[in-house]
Amino acid sequence: MKTKNISIRMSEGEQEKRMLTLCSKLSRRGGTISEFFNHLRTSYLNNIPDSEELKRQAETAGIAWPEMKASAREKILKEVMAEFGIEYSDWGTFKFHIEHRLRGIEGLRILLSEGRITAAEAAEAEKILGNKNLGYDLSILPLNFLLPKEVLTKYIPAGNYEEFRQKDPYGLFIPTAKITAEVGGEAGGRNMYICSRKFKDVVLVNIHANCPIGCAGCYKGFYTREGRVIGEGSDTDGVTLATMGVQMYELVKWLNKNPDIKAIVISGGEPLMAPNNYLGMALEQLKNAKHLAVVRICTGAIFQGLQPRIDDGLFQLLKDFREETGKEIKFNTHIANHYQITPEALMAVKRLVNNGFTIHSQLPIQEGVSFFLDDPAKSLDFMRKLGSMQNALNIEPYKYILDMNPGSKFYVYLEPFLKVLSKLEDRPDKPAAGTGEYTGYSDLVMPRVVNILYPGGNIRLSQYLLFAMEKKVDREQEKVTYYIPSNITDKGAETIFKYAEPLVEGINDDPESLSKLKRKVYQQLQNAM
Ligand code: SF4
Repeated sequence: MKTKNISIRMSEGEQEKRMLTLCSKLSRRGGTISEFFNHLRTSYLNNIPDSEELKRQAETAGIAWPEMKASAREKILKEVMAEFGIEYSDWGTFKFHIEHRLRGIEGLRILLSEGRITAAEAAEAEKILGNKNLGYDLSILPLNFLLPKEVLTKYIPAGNYEEFRQKDPYGLFIPTAKITAEVGGEAGGRNMYICSRKFKDVVLVNIHANCPIGCAGCYKGFYTREGRVIGEGSDTDGVTLATMGVQMYELVKWLNKNPDIKAIVISGGEPLMAPNNYLGMALEQLKNAKHLAVVRICTGAIFQGLQPRIDDGLFQLLKDFREETGKEIKFNTHIANHYQITPEALMAVKRLVNNGFTIHSQLPIQEGVSFFLDDPAKSLDFMRKLGSMQNALNIEPYKYILDMNPGSKFYVYLEPFLKVLSKLEDRPDKPAAGTGEYTGYSDLVMPRVVNILYPGGNIRLSQYLLFAMEKKVDREQEKVTYYIPSNITDKGAETIFKYAEPLVEGINDDPESLSKLKRKVYQQLQNAM
């Protein structure tokens, strides 16, 4: 069954209309939405109380400070602002960003008319947005609209979106992972989704499916982009913000019977779409979880265009919870690439980090966003720059995850990725011959883990897999399967992960590619001995 999520203030139609009116008012006077957003953004950033200090910190960390473009149309931009009741300070509010997203086909047309996407990209995306049965929710936040193409790409669906997105690529709702509870008593008794367990000490608590951030490669896109209720299945009712009280009550009951669970990850959709009073109610319940030591909040808000969500009310709730219970709060933060470390993100990061909240970043390795198949040097440069900036801001580069929908527009094929990873893992410690430039970065910029996450488990990636795994190419099924050894003991591998991706000529089609590489390196080893 497909049920629409709880709406967030304006419906897609209302929002499309508002942005269309804004756009046509601007264009009649010679202005554009990019110019309008940029004017608001730069005026806001240059006028906040600690602007100079923020700018200095941004410069030190290598964060781009947006340029205030001298606009001959400043008078017009101000008139349109007045007409729409918008003030500069609105750029610092959650409400503004939520209400000024580009959505639907009209949103796509605005992107095209302002040269942010090509006609081919618009035509591909329109196939998806025009499919009423799919109900795909395009959502481009104002900040993402202004950032470089490698960011914007992340939010534009490809024409084959439906073919490659999976319902549950990480197996969160399969019977072995899904924890449910009987709720509602005899009269209206039902089996409700509570959380997902894949490991001994942690559970993932999805609280609702709504996410205005809009990643087209979202691994829960079946729910977040297509308006379904998260956790619902043939024998299980899903959850929404409206059922959060019951879910949390049942979760705490279950946690108290499962003392091994020391941490929960609150996720969604975007969990910070829950208003502060809902989150306060959830934290109030979690105070009763006797064995729980850590609450992790899995959010895209900090880096992906909703930084004002880290507001005074939320901040106070988190501080009070930590002080009263001694339980830690940590943030798992989704980021596209280094361009999303903006001055706005810096504000949110400083607030959290300076008050002892840990921020762990999670980077999906995605084609055109954080990886570039035809440009390995650029791929490496993006990963290193991100690591370096995170290091400067006390953000822990936690986990890089290979895109979870094999074959999709964003999917990064395993073999080319491992070759770039090799350069990230090992690096020169002296200036390059010829240029004399140092090219290696410190270990602190390295992610703690690089993973494949799929229903079979979490596979830790390293360059050395190129020598340890085997592959089978199935031309009939157009599929390549990698056999990856794991948990090595004296007896051999305890597990052999089987991981498949679509066969693509010139990328993974050579059945001998791994053995040829192994022979080459073996010969080098022999020569070196
Ligand atoms: S921020 Fe996370 S939940 Fe939201 S659309 Fe992106 S991947 Fe999905």
